[in-house]
Amino acid sequence: MAERNVIIIGGGLVGSLAACYFAKRGWKVDLYEKRQDVRQPEHSCLVEHRSINLAISERGFSALRRLDPLLEARVRELAIPMRGRMIHSLDGRQTSQAYDVFGKHINSVGRNALIKILLDAADSYSRVTLHFSHELVDADFDSRRVTLRNAETNHQFDANADLIVGADGAYSRVRQRMMTKVMMNYSQTYIEHGYCEFSMGPTNGEFAMSPNHLHIWPRGSFMLIALPNPDKTFTCTLFMPWRQFDLIKTSDEAVEFFRAKFPDALGLMGEESMCAEYARNPKGSLVYVKCSPHTYKNRAVILGDAAHAMVPFYGQGMNCGFEDVERLDEIMLNALQASGIESTETTQLTDEQLLSALDEYSATRAADTDAIVDLALDNYVEMRSRVVSYSYLLRKQLEGLLHRLFPTVVIPLYTMVSFTSIPYAAVIRQWDRQTLWLHRSIYAATATVVLGTGLVSAQLLGMRMPTLSEI
Ligand code: FAD
Repeated sequence: MAERNVIIIGGGLVGSLAACYFAKRGWKVDLYEKRQDVRQPEHSCLVEHRSINLAISERGFSALRRLDPLLEARVRELAIPMRGRMIHSLDGRQTSQAYDVFGKHINSVGRNALIKILLDAADSYSRVTLHFSHELVDADFDSRRVTLRNAETNHQFDANADLIVGADGAYSRVRQRMMTKVMMNYSQTYIEHGYCEFSMGPTNGEFAMSPNHLHIWPRGSFMLIALPNPDKTFTCTLFMPWRQFDLIKTSDEAVEFFRAKFPDALGLMGEESMCAEYARNPKGSLVYVKCSPHTYKNRAVILGDAAHAMVPFYGQGMNCGFEDVERLDEIMLNALQASGIESTETTQLTDEQLLSALDEYSATRAADTDAIVDLALDNYVEMRSRVVSYSYLLRKQLEGLLHRLFPTVVIPLYTMVSFTSIPYAAVIRQWDRQTLWLHRSIYAATATVVLGTGLVSAQLLGMRMPTLSEI
C-alpha cells in the first residue's frame, strides 16, 4: 500500500502530540505551525495570551503514557505536584483542602517546557516534518488539499494529504472551513470575565508559599490563583469581570485594590512588580466553544481547543485535548484489529474503515467534550466562592469519607475528572446519581431524627400515641 500522509495544522500542545501518535502508527506527517519554533532561543518567547504554567493530570498523563512511558516520565520530572488547594482568607489565614483522600494530586508544568518536549518527541520520528512559520490559508477537504503561506517568504502553496487534522486552537480555521461542508452545530461564548498574570518571586531563595498547593484567593465574583514553577516562583492569575478591570487604570488603583482584596499576595509579589505587570501584561479573554461533529467524512478531524475550547477553571483544556488524541488512536486501532489485521499501523485502514472510525470518534467524543466544557464553567463558581461555603465543605467531608469506605461506588466529582479517565459525560451522569442519592439519604436521616425526637418527646410528656387505625 502506498504511504499515507496526514497534514496537521497547529503545532501547539495537541498538534505536536497528534504528530507523534500518527507517526507511531505509520503515517507520514507534515505539521504546519504559524508561529516560529519556540525551541529556538531567539524565539523562546511565551505563547501569547496563554498561561505560563498549567495543570496536568491523569488524562494528560494517560495519553503521554500510551504513546511512550518515557515521555510521561520526562514530563513528570518537570512537574510540581499540587496536592490540594490552599485557600487564602482575607485576614491572611490559609486553609489546605486536599484534592483526594488517597493523596492523588494534579501537577504544575511549564507550558513552554512541555511544548518543547512534545516538539522534540515529534522531531524524533523520521516520518515527521515540522514546518514553522507556515499558516493555513484555506482547506478543500474534498480534494484533500490545503493552502499554506510561508510567513517568512510570503510564498503561498498547496499541499495534499489523505487526512487533515485541525489542531489550530480555539479560533480554528480548519473548523471554519469544515463548517462550510458539514451541518455543524456550533456555539462560541465569551464569559464576562478576563484574566491577567503576575509573577511572585522566591523569598530568601525559597518558594514564597507552599509549593505543593494550587493557591486560591476566592473573593466571590473574582479570584486570584497561583501555581508553582520549578524556579521557585509562582505564576499568579487574576480572574475578574471586565468591568472591574476597567475600573483599575492607574498603579495607585491597582495597589489599592490588591491591598483591599489580596493583601498577603501583594506583600509577596511586591507593589512595584505587581503594578508593572498589571500595566504591561495582556488581559486575556475567556471563551468556550462547543461544536459537533468533529469530523468531515474520512478527510478531516478537529482536535483540542479547535473542537472544544473551554474556560480554564478545571485545568482540563489541554488534558482533554490530549485525551482526544488518545481516543482517536484507540478507535482507529480497534477498527484495524476488528478487520483482522495484525498490525498497529493505522495507515492500513481502508477508506471505509477510516470513515467509520472517524464517525465513531465524533459521535462519542462530542458528548464528552460538551460535558467538560460545562463542568469547567461551573468550577469557576466553585473556585471563586463555593470553596468557602459550609454546605460545600460538609459535602466534601461526607463524600471524602464515603469515597474512602466505598472507593468505586462514591467518587467525588473532582476525583472523577482529574484522577480517572471515566468519560466526561459519564462523570456527569454518575455525579447526578450521587447527588440524588446523597439528598435522599440526608432527607431520610433528617426525617428519622425529627420523627424519633417527636416520639421520645411525646413519651416523656406522657402523651398517648395514636394507633394506626386512628391515623
Ligand atoms: P493551542 O494551544 O491554541 O495551539 C494551537 C496552535 O495552532 C498554536 O500554536 C497556533 O499558533 C497554531 N495555529 C493557529 N491557527 C493556525 C493556522 N491558521 N495555521 C497554522 N497554525 C495555526 N489546560 C489544562 O489542561 N490545564 C490547565 O491548567 C490550563 N490552564 C489554562 C490557563 C489559561 C489562562 C488558559 C487560557 C488556558 C488554560 N488551559 C489549561 C487550556 C490549554 O491552554 C488549552 O486547552 C491548550 O493550549 C489547547 O491546545 P491546542 O494545541 O488545542 O491549542
